Amino acid sequence: MQAIEWDKIRAQFPVLHQQVHGKPLVYLDNGASSQMPQSVIDRINNYHSMEHANIHRGVHYLSQTATDEYERTREKVRDLIHARFIEEIIFTTGTTDSINLVADSWGHKNLKEGDEIILSQMEHHANIVPWQLIAQKTGAVIKVIPMDESGVLDLEVYASLLNERTKMVALVHVSNTLGTVNPVLECCKLAKKFNAAVLIDGAQAVPHMPVDIQALNADFYAFSAHKMCGPTGFGVLYGKQELLLEMPPYRGGGDMIDRVSFSGTTFNDLPHKFEAGTPPIAAGIGFGESLNFLDSVGLSNIAAREHELLEYANHELSKIDGLQFIGTSTNKTSVISFLLDNIHPTDAGTIMDKYGVAVRTGHHCTQPIMEYYSIPGTIRASLSFYNNEQDIDALVSAVKETQSFFT
Ligand code: PMP
Repeated sequence: MQAIEWDKIRAQFPVLHQQVHGKPLVYLDNGASSQMPQSVIDRINNYHSMEHANIHRGVHYLSQTATDEYERTREKVRDLIHARFIEEIIFTTGTTDSINLVADSWGHKNLKEGDEIILSQMEHHANIVPWQLIAQKTGAVIKVIPMDESGVLDLEVYASLLNERTKMVALVHVSNTLGTVNPVLECCKLAKKFNAAVLIDGAQAVPHMPVDIQALNADFYAFSAHKMCGPTGFGVLYGKQELLLEMPPYRGGGDMIDRVSFSGTTFNDLPHKFEAGTPPIAAGIGFGESLNFLDSVGLSNIAAREHELLEYANHELSKIDGLQFIGTSTNKTSVISFLLDNIHPTDAGTIMDKYGVAVRTGHHCTQPIMEYYSIPGTIRASLSFYNNEQDIDALVSAVKETQSFFT
């Protein structure tokens, strides 16, 4: 890792420098949403103050500069994930929207009765429910890759589930509940033997590690800006050009058309075919600034720093009697789910909040994982590169305070 002054990076996040309940805020809910650095906040403010206009339509100065700025974000996303073409980057409102787009548009065109869709036990609801909806409409069947106690997928079962009826494999790259990094490269290779399409839910991967979509050879890849130091309401669907060209539009409206008449409508080229209506322009431009920021820190440096923090947190938390980790894969990101004695996770989270420590509690939109462990939920601390060892010390002491409160 380069010698990076992480304190100076942390200093750029204004939200982190405040007190809650009279205690310094310790923000450990980055898996749900990360925070924005000042540069992103300023970029969005400036857009609203001085640059606002609708994009893609106007001939006037503001509209054209807003369009240029918005489209520059698309180029940055292409560079980030090493996509071949700019047309392969579709802007959506987030991972959920991206997956719904594929399930609906690709699914209607490609699925029929008896076809099979493979998901895994550790999917976020956003990568389960859209497939259930399209399966109900088309008669396709969903198969599930199981996992073991440590939260690792069973690849032998996966290989045995694949067959010529498999049309789609939709997998999470990094589990938001367990932190497990799935072997998506291997999973893609296996799926390709049966010509199945592959969608990867990258919501928890792209913010934390370099991703090369061409090396991965996935057909679709989805992620959200708000987990990448960017604003809410904005996200990405990467799709291979040849597949996107064949897919019917998902939503109809302005911008996605070529010509409209009552005798029939033709559609715009990629990527606009999938982008109906006025998008969240400020969010798109702000996201471009987030990508500049992440690039300036470096995703490899981010991965290394977060790993360092994960090791420190694991080491400190494992000293606590009565704390049980959920998700112990050897290949994981800095997501730490745990249970504390027999304290309900929501109660634990409420007490920890009183000490300024923001963790997430509950099922984390992964009820099938909770079902697997027969638990109602977990306490989840998800770390970002702008956290530090003092944050982890505060987590450890909040955990201990919670235990003594309940005894
Ligand atoms: N997939 C995973 C793995 C996630 O962590 C999340 C967000 N918690 C989503 C999908 C959904 O993302 P969004 O709410 O931004 O659409």
